[in-house]
Amino acid sequence: MIRFRMLATAAVLAAFVSPLLAQAPQRIALTLDDGPHLSATPLLSPQARNEAILAAIRKHRVQAALFVTCGNGADRPEGLALVKAWSDAGQLLGNHTMTHPDLNSPQLSLEQYQDEIQRCQQILAGQPGLQRWFRFTFLREGKPEAKRDGMRTWMKEQGWRNAYVSLDTSDWRLNEFLEARLKADPQAEVEDIRQAYLDHLWQRAQAYQALSRRLQGRDIAQVLLAHHNLLNALFLDDALAMFKAKGWQFISPAEAFEDPIYQLQPLSPVAGQSLLLSMARSLGLGRFEGWARLVDDGDYEIERLSRPAALTR
Ligand SMILES: [Zn+2]
Repeated sequence: MIRFRMLATAAVLAAFVSPLLAQAPQRIALTLDDGPHLSATPLLSPQARNEAILAAIRKHRVQAALFVTCGNGADRPEGLALVKAWSDAGQLLGNHTMTHPDLNSPQLSLEQYQDEIQRCQQILAGQPGLQRWFRFTFLREGKPEAKRDGMRTWMKEQGWRNAYVSLDTSDWRLNEFLEARLKADPQAEVEDIRQAYLDHLWQRAQAYQALSRRLQGRDIAQVLLAHHNLLNALFLDDALAMFKAKGWQFISPAEAFEDPIYQLQPLSPVAGQSLLLSMARSLGLGRFEGWARLVDDGDYEIERLSRPAALTR
């Protein structure tokens, strides 16, 4: 009888608590790779792009992390000034190599890759926001396995965190499309690209949330990958507003990385993809419903954007 009462009490408690748990907001952290870029784009100078991205982050009171590819600009004083703007704004910095080489390339040795990381870290040393976080280029952890394991051992010895991505996006592909259109005509209409980007982010977000529930039985703290580019200089404000409107809650990448999932090391990392997809592959869950849209490099959006306007209506 006592046992029954306890069970009944637990059931009543669960009835109250479950809806509360169900309403816990999905947590998400913002990370941007490859910046700051000193390369020219239509519309905005490198300084204006950097400032626009920081303004969006500031407006939404988000702490983000910039994964710096030092050869894109930070190795020159004017580029390092853009990095400093991140530190001054209380943002976090991580390492994304000097020249963005592909660790899976047979021409690149483990030592060369590690040297790329160390040289970039020397450039960033002294920036208050700098963490000992490394983001693999192309999210490729190394092939063959000896390379992958060599990196894992080296990173552990040197105190590096693998700054995993769970919510991978193809913003870089939409950025290429955006820049190409604006190069052809700086006055071109870009509203359809803005909408495609927001739709893309939300589609990926929902799909990775579903994959997290499937693999972990819960909502992990998601780590979103976007890039330091013109697309985000123009539309990051809208993207952050969209996630908030959908009830998602931004947390610092430092807080997100405390989720135990980011301590895992999948046995078969899959090139160019999120930790969740690598885990799915390791578990033998290669293809599942919606899988293709997570690995299509934004083909779906580009194909729609490329159709003549009359056909998209
Ligand atoms: Zn990158």
